[in-house]
Amino acid sequence: MSSELRAGILQEVATGVRRLVAPNPGMMTGPGTNTYLLGRDAIAVIDPGPRIDAHIDAIAEGAGAPVRWILATHTHPDHSPAVSALAAMTGAEVLGRPAPEGRHQDRTFHPDRILDDADVLKTAEFELQAVHTPGHASNHVCYLLRKHRCLFTGDHIINGSTVVIDPPDGNMQQYIESLRRLKDIDIASIAPGHGEVFTNPYEVIDWIIDHRLEREGKVIAALRKNPASTSMELVAVVYKDVDRALYPVAERSLLAHLIKLKDEGRAVNDQGRWRQG
Ligand SMILES: [Zn+2]
Repeated sequence: MSSELRAGILQEVATGVRRLVAPNPGMMTGPGTNTYLLGRDAIAVIDPGPRIDAHIDAIAEGAGAPVRWILATHTHPDHSPAVSALAAMTGAEVLGRPAPEGRHQDRTFHPDRILDDADVLKTAEFELQAVHTPGHASNHVCYLLRKHRCLFTGDHIINGSTVVIDPPDGNMQQYIESLRRLKDIDIASIAPGHGEVFTNPYEVIDWIIDHRLEREGKVIAALRKNPASTSMELVAVVYKDVDRALYPVAERSLLAHLIKLKDEGRAVNDQGRWRQG
């Protein structure tokens, strides 16, 4: 199926799944946040994105039928702030998990129905199952469109760049565990929160896990060679292959790796300086 990742273009990207890209392209968002519309007679919207009026209007107009449900994968500022405005406009029920404590969280998100792992939204046209996937964010939920085995992954899996794990709400150990759990689910395609649809889900999941463990290996090697380093000093060693402009972001993911290693007894933090455990 052909597709185009440009803001304002409503496109069918999988059977029964339409996508509308929000006009918020950037370093962290790629072409913009993907908003997904499910159903024909009564619509469910996943991740209406940042609060941008033109995008909210495009969702409501493009839906072509009443919007009855609005779901968020998590409450980062590029995914959920449009929920309350779209809900006010349509009267739709809001589903997801509330924002945790900490920075970069959308506190305007108030679900009418809190979804736990394996909860299902049943409509006349489809069933959508919640899969709780902490790691990128503690309240992150993926959604499985059962009939088509399409998994909406928000920021758990994105296409085009690496997911940032920002501690303390972001947790590398949980992230890798949540990726492994997806392998037990029957999935035909992955519809990510940013970038194009994947049709080779298990290859993608394995690649991400391998990539993270490879990076962890580099962290361990860097600790061995540079004992008593701060995380910022280690960034240049561990992320040699990454553009310097991304170092502040890389430092967050590095810290996530270090915390994982510390929790596993493989690294020690001594007053902000790290060494092997
Ligand atoms: Zn996010």
